[in-house]
Parts: sequence; structure tokens; C-alpha cells
Amino acid sequence: MKVTDCNDKKIKRVLIVGGGTSGWIAAASLSHLYNHADLNIRLVESQEIATVGVGEATVPHIRYFNARLGLDEREFMKSTQATFKLGNEFRNWGREGLRYAHPFGAFGESVAGVGFHHHWVRAHKKGLASEIGDYALSVQMMNKGRFALPDKDPQSVLSTFSYAYQFDAYLYAAYLRKYSEARGVVRTEGKVTHVEQHPETGDVTAIQLASGERIVADLFIDCTGFHGLLIEQTLKTGYEDWSHWLPNDRAWAVNCEIREGHLPLTRNTAHKVGWQWRIPLQHRLGNGYVHSSAFIDEQDALDTLMNNLEGPTLTEPKLLKFVTGKRKKQWNKNVVAIGLSSGFLEPLESTSIHLIHLAVTNLVEMFPDKDFRDEDRDEYNRIMSMEYTRVRDFLILHYHATERTDSEFWNYCRTMEIPDALKYEMDLFRQRAVVVNYKQKFFLEPSWLSVYFGQGVMPDSYDPLSERLNDAELEALMVHTKSRIDQAVDAMPSNGAFLEAYCPGSVTPEKALH
Ligand SMILES: Cc1cc2nc3c(=O)[nH]c(=O)nc-3n(C[C@H](O)[C@H](O)[C@H](O)COP(=O)(O)OP(=O)(O)OC[C@H]3O[C@@H](n4cnc5c(N)ncnc54)[C@H](O)[C@@H]3O)c2cc1C
Repeated sequence: MKVTDCNDKKIKRVLIVGGGTSGWIAAASLSHLYNHADLNIRLVESQEIATVGVGEATVPHIRYFNARLGLDEREFMKSTQATFKLGNEFRNWGREGLRYAHPFGAFGESVAGVGFHHHWVRAHKKGLASEIGDYALSVQMMNKGRFALPDKDPQSVLSTFSYAYQFDAYLYAAYLRKYSEARGVVRTEGKVTHVEQHPETGDVTAIQLASGERIVADLFIDCTGFHGLLIEQTLKTGYEDWSHWLPNDRAWAVNCEIREGHLPLTRNTAHKVGWQWRIPLQHRLGNGYVHSSAFIDEQDALDTLMNNLEGPTLTEPKLLKFVTGKRKKQWNKNVVAIGLSSGFLEPLESTSIHLIHLAVTNLVEMFPDKDFRDEDRDEYNRIMSMEYTRVRDFLILHYHATERTDSEFWNYCRTMEIPDALKYEMDLFRQRAVVVNYKQKFFLEPSWLSVYFGQGVMPDSYDPLSERLNDAELEALMVHTKSRIDQAVDAMPSNGAFLEAYCPGSVTPEKALH
């Protein structure tokens, strides 16, 4: 019997084109996993072509990603000027003056076999409950500016939340570069000027740099950002444009001094058109104004941002242009697009870096050999498309579930046709407080609940099993849940004080008080 030698088919050379956040995440992951294997990993980047340099707020999944790479949390935070993030705070979204939190944590606990939020809806209708955020530990930590690490004991109320980071995008890429180079990744400085393709299959076979150097590889990872050098400029893969649902297509970004202290959250304040982010890092504040060029011009948008800063600027404002959507295929032929080259969903829920981590994880799970089977590509594209679509629908909810009537922008978002899947989810919720529970879904029930309730979408009814509790028991549940949370939060240090103790030198003493 003839046995095929797997080595003949093994991918031996991977070339990552692009050295922004996505390029270095891909390099770090692959070099960690294939450190001892016979895989040559190279990365090409050009100092002539800047990275986007934003992308500073994350979601908790990054901690599991970091743990897989074996990163030390304190060292990681120190190297990237990182702060803790317990969730996003939204101002003026459901209507002007309304504020709510989307925390990385649960609302209460299930009782009598029914999710806490059903009891809360019932209690709220009877006037026995205050706002939903009073029953989430992480929301109270955000409101009071406190921080502690979660407890692993499921009995402890401190086990009911998670956290992420906010960090400097340039330092993050530099940190991962150091990690990757220490594991054998070879970086080449240079601008790609020509891409060679196989005359029959159309696969990419090599790239050429301005210096004249030619680099051959088996698998190419396109991390060239919005340029999409391989996936689009070369392979003409096509793009699904979602801007009719998410019309923002510009962002002004600028850094300024941090004046209002270190709250453990990203703040997203809605304006008449679009919204503004506030991301506190150890050494500075990241700010940006995401808006739609169809509803506001560039200068007015810049003025809006500059008039809403809390301290003197540290950088020149930078304008970024984008089209919300995704590549029709994120893996095409022997090119996998990761990061902005694969698509972009605006940063309202800080999802891009997570989608990069997810892409790399999926690629590793379906790592090809030189046969490049359609099935692998199709499955990869199916998973990534589903993840993008579900994040998209969650973002659309923020714009659509609003009572704002003060501008053309909000009138458009409030009245636009939404995707069928989202309409279905919203209808289900409105009837009986049900959140659709997909097996694979990035944002889970608490996230959807926080936006629904926070933006004034109240269900008509609730799970009838909640009526197993009589009114006195229902009220006692609300009182007990809230007081347990209040006691736990009041015993915590301020976020600034915790940060300073955890990463000495990170926060000046007066800011640690906030
Ligand atoms: C306004 C805005 C706000 C954002 N906020 C967040 C956030 O809060 N959280 C989050 O998770 N994400 C956020 N993102 C997304 C995040 O910034 C990106 O996902 C992340 O930075 C990855 O970018 P990238 O590496 O794919 O592309 P880039 O940073 O653009 O890097 C592209 C790389 O390709 C190289 N390159 C391009 N062409 C060539 C060539 N011809 N030859 C050689 N090299 C080349 C460049 O030199 C560069 O190194 C935001 C994005 C935008 C636009």
C-alpha cells in the first residue's frame, strides 16, 4: 500500500502582509503554536504606509487570547499603558439625557428556574424594582468607579462579571511584534509593489517589494488594512456594503490629556449625528467622533469633536474613512484576509480586535495544507460571515431602538428597514422578554438586555414561571440582590487606586482617587 507523506503537502511558508494590530496578532498566534514546527513565518510591513493607529477598546475575550499566548497580565498592561474596562457607557442613545451601561457581566441570578430579568420585568411593572443596572455588579462598579478582580468561586457575587482592557494601539502592535520575533517571525521592512499569481489557478505565488526583493509563500495572510492589497486589489473578491444599516463612514480621532480620572469604562456619547468615544488609558485619553458624511460635513464634525474634549490635545486630529461591511469571502484561494482588509464594523462595541482574534483562531483550527480544500475555505467563511452578521445586528439595534427625533440622522436610523433576523429578535423580546439564544454568538443575553432596557425597549410580558414567586418574595429578591451588590461594590477600592497598586507608576496619586 502506498502511503502519502503528509510532509509533501504541508504548508511550509506563511507570509503576513501588514504590520498593524492584525498582522502582529496573526504573527504572535502562529509563532506561538508553530514555534517548534517546520513553518517559516514572515511579515512584511511598510513604514511608508501608516497603520490606522486606533483600536484601543476591547471585549473580555482578549483575556483568554492573552492567556493562550502565555502573557503576564501586569507586564502586558504596563507595556501597552492599559487600563481595565468593565463595559461601555452609553449617553444620549435611546433619547437625549438617557444614560445606561452595557456591562461585561450578569444581571442578578436565575431564581425558581427563571432568568433574573423576567423577575425584574414583572417587579418593574408592579413598581417593586428600580432600574435594571442596580442589579448588576459590574454596572455599579462602573457607576461608582470601583474595581477588583473577579472571583472564581461561583457562589461569590464577585464571580458575576468579567473585564477587558483599553490600551495604546501602537504599543499593542509593538508588544506583539517583540513576542513574535522572539519566536522566530522574520520581519521585513518594505512596500509591496507587485503581486504574482499562478497563471491557471490564480493563487498568489509571490510578492515583490520596492527594493526588488521577491518573497514566495504557500499561504498569504492579508493584513493590509483598508487597502486589501491581496484580497481585493489582487483577487477582486468583492465587498458586501452594509452602510444602509450603519451609515457612519468617517471618524475624527485625537488624543488629549486625561482630566476626569480613570473610570473603568469606554464612554460612547451620541451626538445629533453619530457618536463620540472616550477611552481612558494610563497616560492619556483617546477620543474619536464617528459620523456619517451624508449628514454632517468634515469641518462641522471636527468642531463637534474638539468642542467636546476634556483636556488639551496631545496629537493632531486624524480623519479615517471607512465603509461598513465585509468581504464577500474572507478566505479566497490561498489568501486569508484578517483585520480591516476583511471588513469593518464601526467601533461602537469595540469588536474589531475580537474579530481578528476569532479569525486567527478559526484559521488555526482549519489550517490548510497545499491542497487548499474548498470545504475548509467555505467553513471558515461561513463562521466568519455569521460572526460579522450577528455583531452587525447588535450594532444596528443601538441606532434603531431610539426615540430621538432631533436630526435627520436619527430619523433615518429610527425608521429604516432593519435585517429580518434582527426584526425577529426584537419582536420576540417585545412579546415576552425572550433573547434569542444562538449557540454561537458573540454578544450573549446580558448584552442584548442592557441595550434593550437601556434604550427603552420594554417587553409586554415575561416568563409566566416568574409567578412562582408571590409579590413579597419578588420584592425581597430585588432588595436582596441590590443590597448584596451594593455591599460588595462599597468594599472595593477605586479603579485608579487598584490600577496603581496593580501596575505601580500607572496613575498619578490625585487621579487614583477618582
Ligand atoms: C475609527 C476607528 C476606531 C476603531 N476603534 C476600535 C476599537 O475601539 N476597538 C477595536 O477592537 N477595534 C477598533 N478599530 C479597528 C482596529 O483599529 C483595527 O481592527 C486594527 O487596528 C487592525 O487594523 P489592521 O492591522 O487590519 O490594519 P492597519 O492598522 O491599517 O495596518 C495595515 C498594515 O498594512 C501595511 N501595508 C498596507 N499596504 C502595504 C503595502 N503595499 N506594502 C507593505 N505593507 C503594506 C501597513 O504598513 C500597515 O502595517 C477601529 C477602527 C477605526 C477605523
